[in-house]
This record gives sequence, structure tokens and C-alpha cells, in this order.
Amino acid sequence: MAQQELLMAARKKIALVAHDHKKDDLLVWARYNLDVLQQHTLYASGTTGWLLETELGLEITKLMSGPLGGDQQIGAKIAEGEIDTLIFFWDPLQAQPHDPDVKALLRLATVWNIPVATNRTTADFLITSPLMHTSYPRQLTDYEEYKQRLSHLFGPDASR
Ligand code: PGA
Repeated sequence: MAQQELLMAARKKIALVAHDHKKDDLLVWARYNLDVLQQHTLYASGTTGWLLETELGLEITKLMSGPLGGDQQIGAKIAEGEIDTLIFFWDPLQAQPHDPDVKALLRLATVWNIPVATNRTTADFLITSPLMHTSYPRQLTDYEEYKQRLSHLFGPDASR
């Protein structure tokens, strides 16, 4: 498929999510990286956002709690280009009631080719990247051909 580009601004739009057994990890990581995080626009699933806001005073757009739809809201914002970076400390040792949503969120992050960190080491590498402070042309698969697939059968109005 053809490629297209989407320019990520120097100020990133970062979503932060941590499962319950990983919230401490994320809190320690966010405290250490407070200065950098404050330079970006932050979103979070409900409880994670509340925790970061209360403990660190970060300004965050809080979505719903993950199991109640927050992961899906973040996925939708990735698809719409409103979020372009994901820090998602998911718990590899515990099944979640919303495991399908977790999988869907990680899938959309890949579909839209955004940087994702799912553990502290990767988050450290990501947050210290010089690309966090410059604009970056994100390569996207051009899905136009895919969107047009129905128009062959049902006419031009059918392409979505
Ligand atoms: P929470 O959701 O921040 O509301 O705990 C996290 C998640 O499980 O996706």
C-alpha cells in the first residue's frame, strides 16, 4: 500500500494508562519525568489520570476509567489524530475484564504508527528521545484504496 505522512508537532499528545498493579510504576516514572511531561499535552484513562493529577499536579484530560470505556476512547482519539503517543503499562500477569479493549488499543496504536511504550525501560528510551522535542513526519499507510473498496460494489457514497 502507498504511504502518506502526518506531521507530529514538537508538543506531543501523550496518553498515559496503567493497570492497577502497574500504577505505582507509572507514578514513579512520571514523577521522575515531570519536567518533560509538562511540556506536552496529556491524556489518561480515568483512574490513572486522577492519580497523576492528584500526586503530581499534572494537567491531564481524563477520559473514562479503562474498564468502563477509557481504553476505547483513547483508541478513538488515536484514530482521529488527537493522541499521537501512548505510554501504556499493562499488566502481563493479570487478566483484565477489558482485555479485548486492551488488545484493540494496542492494535490501533500500530495501525496509526504511533510510538508506544508498554514498560518503564521503553518509556525511558521514548521520553529521552530528541524526537520528543521536534516535529516528526509520521509515516502512515494510505488506506484510501481500502476505503474505496465498497464503491466498486455500491457506488461512491459507500466508501468509508
Ligand atoms: P484506569 O484504567 O486508569 O481507569 O485504572 C486503566 C485501564 O485499565 O485501562
